Amino acid sequence: MDYILAKKMILPVKSSDIFGSTHMMNMYRGCDHGCIYCDSRSECYQGGRPEGDFSLVHAKKDALKLIESELQFRRKANAAEMVIGTGSMSDPYNSFEKDLELTRGALLLFDKYKCGVGVITKSALVSRDVGLYAQIQTHSPVNVGITITTTDSVLCQKIEPGVSGAAERFKAIRALAGAGIFTGVHMNPVLPYLTDTEENVCSIVENAAANHAKYVFCYGFGMTLRQGNREYYYENSDNLFPGLKEKYVKAFGQKYVCTSENAKELSLVFKDECEKYGLLHRAKDINAAWKKEKPKQKNLLEFESFESFES
Ligand code: SF4
Repeated sequence: MDYILAKKMILPVKSSDIFGSTHMMNMYRGCDHGCIYCDSRSECYQGGRPEGDFSLVHAKKDALKLIESELQFRRKANAAEMVIGTGSMSDPYNSFEKDLELTRGALLLFDKYKCGVGVITKSALVSRDVGLYAQIQTHSPVNVGITITTTDSVLCQKIEPGVSGAAERFKAIRALAGAGIFTGVHMNPVLPYLTDTEENVCSIVENAAANHAKYVFCYGFGMTLRQGNREYYYENSDNLFPGLKEKYVKAFGQKYVCTSENAKELSLVFKDECEKYGLLHRAKDINAAWKKEKPKQKNLLEFESFESFES
């Protein structure tokens, strides 16, 4: 772990964000969760950076000071409500966050300056901050999305060696939901020939419902591969799943979007399963719902018990 300089921490979202965040932020650059399919490894994101190995985590120096001054400026400008998204380019709950508490520090500032937050993570450490998310949700929208691509622990260990196990992540969803926080599962990517089975989709949806998620979202039954992440994926999957690379080359060539051959069937199963359990699954419904979620002030003291979830 090392520090890098950052000029600005909170950036406006240029195109309309699928989940309605107005701004985005990354407390870290790089991620040590080691997912073999990680799109953030793509050369278009790494080009020209001295610290080219994406697995090395860099924290941003003076990140919290910068965030505070940027939020102070926004408040002086009497700007409209901010909803800050994090987790698209690196996991805000990487292994260093437990001690550094930079993401937690940012959440404290979001609460102070009355900003909403949308987070995506693959770590159960997120449940450490249940009390804070609940506090923010008393005044602003909160959406905690936990990515779960498979419930098969052996497969998970191969494709996502650094993340919390699926059972731990479902437990985190239960803790968040128990505190009244808007939370759900992001079921992407869906890896052709590995996780694109009806059994896997049904298992994820069933577990999401059992742990009181509000939604399961899947933006497509496939994955993306491009320069940088394609090579990494093939290099790693070659050892783990002999013959897989050849199947991909034959099916997708140099395509960026690699859609499962089961996509049509899986999307129908997914829709039926979500509706069977009363889970939201369309982006527009999820987006509308989390912005409307009612604050839950009266239980704040109870949330203290979730703070020790990880310890
Ligand atoms: S958790 Fe996200 S950012 Fe980190 S390696 Fe996995 S896919 Fe990449």
